[in-house]
Amino acid sequence: MNLIELQQYTISEDKSEEYLRRQGILKQFDCCPYCESKRIGRIRRYKFKCYNCRKEWGSRKGSVLEGLRVPLIRVLISIKLFELDTSVREAARQLDLSYNTVYDLFDLFRQSIAGSDVNTSFTLSGEIEMDESYFGGRRKGNRGRGAAGKIPVFGILERGGKVRVEAVQNVTGETLLDMAIKKVKRGSLIYTDKFRSYNGLISYGFRHMRIDHGKRFVNGKVYINGIEGFWSFAKERLMKYHGVDPKKFPLYLKELEFRYNHRHHDLYDAVVKCISEYSLVVSIQ
Ligand SMILES: [Zn+2]
Repeated sequence: MNLIELQQYTISEDKSEEYLRRQGILKQFDCCPYCESKRIGRIRRYKFKCYNCRKEWGSRKGSVLEGLRVPLIRVLISIKLFELDTSVREAARQLDLSYNTVYDLFDLFRQSIAGSDVNTSFTLSGEIEMDESYFGGRRKGNRGRGAAGKIPVFGILERGGKVRVEAVQNVTGETLLDMAIKKVKRGSLIYTDKFRSYNGLISYGFRHMRIDHGKRFVNGKVYINGIEGFWSFAKERLMKYHGVDPKKFPLYLKELEFRYNHRHHDLYDAVVKCISEYSLVVSIQ
């Protein structure tokens, strides 16, 4: 959804509410959430009332937006600012909201991205590249594997397709093979470098080719440029945040994975879909 299309939903709170309800982010109330009576009605602009048990509730009840006191118009615009990768500080200025409020909104979008099924349950197949990289740490530590104070991240990329990345406790063969088994279809051809943790891929039913970094360009298809491209994309973006809180790092990582995987799609619609899916997950719990 571009800005011009978005405009039709941000001309009034009613239009924004209607949009969010149609997307499944706000609940549709066919009966009373307390007594299930169908004798309900709208009493004020954003209030419903049950004529059976006499209880009242707001239009955001039971949704992920419950408790957020932000006008819905600004929620819709904040999704656009998030899509455009605006900083929290700048978004707060544009929306005339506090830093903390916008932080909470962006955090909700990241939680939605990380928690929605479409982003967590797909498998990769065909020609695959696997690699690990290290993130974080304020000082430049030892380069390469095992750099102190840095978070190891394992990445799997399908050539011409999607990437999956995850922060891991360690880069032992056990950890990496376990992720490969869960996320990659057996029989796929996997390219890695010579790191010994990748020993054993063949015994789990994968085909395996190793690259020699020194000779990568003479070996034709034997390269891992795709996943290395993702690492530079991810690191360049994370630089903007001047280091991310380690507790929040997995969320930022999922966001990067999501942005990369949707680089040819409409990111606004994709974020809305995630929030909608996440609303379902949250309301089931
Ligand atoms: Zn009732």
